[in-house]
Amino acid sequence: MTVGRVIIVGGGVAGTATALALHRAGIPAEVHEAHEAGGADAGAFLTLMGNGMAALAEIGATAAVEAVSYPAPTVTLWDAAGQQVGHRPIAGGARSITRAALYRALQQLATERGIPVRHGRRMTSAVNRADGVEVAFADGTTVAGDVLVGADGIRSRTRRLIDPAAPEPRFSGGHVIYGYAPGNPAGVDPDGFHMVHGSRAFFGFTAPGGDGRTWWFARVGGGQPGDSPASWRDRALDVCRDDATPLTAIITASGTDVIGGESYDIPTTPHWHNERMVLAGDAAHATTPAAAQGASMALQDAVALAGALGEHGDPAAAFTAYENLRRTETEQTVAASARLTASKSVAPPDPAA
Ligand SMILES: Cc1cc2nc3c(=O)[nH]c(=O)nc-3n(C[C@H](O)[C@H](O)[C@H](O)COP(=O)(O)OP(=O)(O)OC[C@H]3O[C@@H](n4cnc5c(N)ncnc54)[C@H](O)[C@@H]3O)c2cc1C
Repeated sequence: MTVGRVIIVGGGVAGTATALALHRAGIPAEVHEAHEAGGADAGAFLTLMGNGMAALAEIGATAAVEAVSYPAPTVTLWDAAGQQVGHRPIAGGARSITRAALYRALQQLATERGIPVRHGRRMTSAVNRADGVEVAFADGTTVAGDVLVGADGIRSRTRRLIDPAAPEPRFSGGHVIYGYAPGNPAGVDPDGFHMVHGSRAFFGFTAPGGDGRTWWFARVGGGQPGDSPASWRDRALDVCRDDATPLTAIITASGTDVIGGESYDIPTTPHWHNERMVLAGDAAHATTPAAAQGASMALQDAVALAGALGEHGDPAAAFTAYENLRRTETEQTVAASARLTASKSVAPPDPAA
């Protein structure tokens, strides 16, 4: 048999990229996204590393993503005294991009290629049938397909349908705060990414990209989450107060263009699939941001899953082949990122990535 219709739940990175990869393989797919427009919390930014960029190339999405992202060709390392202690290239054409821009670019590309992307479609349940799967949505409608791809993120409903006992996401013990400052308060050369090993937190910031703003993040441990942009900003200011780095100037200049949140991961998901349902992206293996790999791994899942479905007519065989390709590597990355989070560090840019 061949897989004739794939229902994808979640129009984020993994879901939309899977639809694009399936389209290349000649397999019809449709995306159902819970949000009315765009996708999940869009305020944060992320780095697409070399492995993610290679996956984008495989689905023909390089140009669309490059148009709305900025190159991150180098990383400069700073210490808490404000001294530059390293400078090296990041291999693989890494790019900085907001989550919102990445979602929009992938969704727009899918629409241009004739792939249905439906918003306001929150999946509530799904059941396997002898010859396929039936998926129900909060608006009372249902759709039927050959397989269901659960690309519904870290709080995945599909994960729970496949295994009601699947582990809950694990709180890392820390928070990540993101902000945007107009201009170049740090006065750095526009040549890439900057990482600051502060005395009380880890920071990163970009030199101003094409939108003229400096993007920054702070990874902070413990404490209460903020309850407003200003409280997250003050928290970030508090943890860089003792350091002689440009962060105080950057964060202050951000005003209230700041968001924050708790950081979670999923070290292992025992069951990635059943007969007709399969997980991709954060639904299977969410990671803390320290290794900067969540989106890139989601893109790699998309390519691997579409390849397996194209190669194996039988969903069970395809899901097994896909899991064999992806489980070990993704679990190792999640574990490595958790260690970095605990050590208040970040991954050195991997020349092979
Ligand atoms: C603050 C932060 C910083 C990050 N930094 C980085 C980084 O530097 N580098 C990196 O590679 N990654 C980073 N990541 C991780 C990256 O954003 C995720 O790994 C990536 O978005 C995973 O893609 P996904 O498609 O699996 O999940 P998501 O992007 O979360 O998409 C899931 C989608 O499913 C939808 N959905 C959920 N439930 C349902 C439902 N029941 N029905 C229909 N739709 C549903 C959601 O609305 C959402 O749009 C970061 C993540 C966060 C939160």
